[in-house]
Amino acid sequence: MTDMVDCVVVGAGVIGLAVARQLALDGHETLLVERQEAFGTETSSRHSEVIHAGIYYSAGSLKAQLCVRGRELLYEYCAARGIDHRRCGKLIVATQPGQIADLERIAAAARRNGVEDLYPVSRDEALRLEPSLQCVAALVSPSTGIIDSHGYMLSLLGDAESKGATLALLSTVSALRPAGGAVELWVSGEPQPLLKARWVVNCAGLHAPELARRIEGFPAAQVPRAWYAKGNYFTLAGRAPFSRLIYPVPEPGGLGVHLTLDLGGQARFGPDVEWIDALDYSVDPRRSGQFYAAIRAYWPQLRDGQLAPAYAGIRPKISGPGEPAADFRIDGPVVHGVAGIVNLFGIESPGLTASLAIAERVGEIVAGA
Ligand SMILES: Cc1cc2nc3c(=O)[nH]c(=O)nc-3n(C[C@H](O)[C@H](O)[C@H](O)COP(=O)(O)OP(=O)(O)OC[C@H]3O[C@@H](n4cnc5c(N)ncnc54)[C@H](O)[C@@H]3O)c2cc1C
Repeated sequence: MTDMVDCVVVGAGVIGLAVARQLALDGHETLLVERQEAFGTETSSRHSEVIHAGIYYSAGSLKAQLCVRGRELLYEYCAARGIDHRRCGKLIVATQPGQIADLERIAAAARRNGVEDLYPVSRDEALRLEPSLQCVAALVSPSTGIIDSHGYMLSLLGDAESKGATLALLSTVSALRPAGGAVELWVSGEPQPLLKARWVVNCAGLHAPELARRIEGFPAAQVPRAWYAKGNYFTLAGRAPFSRLIYPVPEPGGLGVHLTLDLGGQARFGPDVEWIDALDYSVDPRRSGQFYAAIRAYWPQLRDGQLAPAYAGIRPKISGPGEPAADFRIDGPVVHGVAGIVNLFGIESPGLTASLAIAERVGEIVAGA
């Protein structure tokens, strides 16, 4: 016997949780299916916990639109729900004169994206804000912040459950088959489909392309190749003499080895960019050499022995090394032609910031059908 539900969301990271909440709020009977024994244990607990302003992304891209919209929704949500967060601001720093043009390009991109509050400061003004900094000029982003991402995910789940959604843990979706206006799902190795849904939303993160390939008859051309770009973090022994986040100008594939603070004031540095072929979360302590060099460009007082390997996250990329950065993909039937399926691909940074706005988009696709 196959149970019929309105919507199945596959993957309980921050995106699946936000989508399940949105669909439940919209009145859909919603089941959230997660293969791990807890929600949010993959990419959603291996990031910088930064609420991004929306500065860097190509004009008109989903990343730009959904980051700016998502950031506003997220600040409102955190305030309404008492989720720990701080609008601490960040400095983007040029550490050599040749990077001043990069700051100007970044400021122009931010304006195109509707980020209104970014402003340039001279070296002296930057040092008045952060006396330990080494730079020749900087941009100040007042609307960048930090968030307790676990508290946020817990709250999303609470909202979804209060509207009748259910989270099924230790349940792996292994195959899907469109059938008669619905989609059948095979779960946890059962020989027969266990579920039937009017809508399936693929929020499987790093595994989303692999899951899409398991949809019977799904057009292969609509499934991007998955690329993995690991980001390693090192933590700082002792307190960092900074109250804002410090970012260098971005590097290909990531935002550069930046300093972020958690809500307790503990500093961590990263993520760098390491292209890998298989999922591996170990942090090689030998990478610290590159970290010391990158950090000392903007904080020369960092002492030998102050960095310790912390953790790594893996960016679910859909463009490879040297290729232009791909945008988020939220592919509904209008894109791929298969009824009842929404695939989310390439939800790397700023996915946490954009999560509520991404969920709104999925809600619109489901409502519009
Ligand atoms: C190094 C790094 C730093 C980042 N920093 C930031 C930041 O500061 N700010 C920001 O806004 N964004 C940041 N991001 C981006 C953000 O972390 C991601 O966009 C977000 O966490 C993605 O969430 P997700 O739910 O799509 O994926 P995940 O959290 O990976 O969730 C996917 C879930 O799907 C489950 N799953 C997979 N396959 C199946 C299956 N077949 N059946 C059932 N379940 C399945 C997995 O177990 C997993 O729980 C960063 C990302 C990285 C890698």
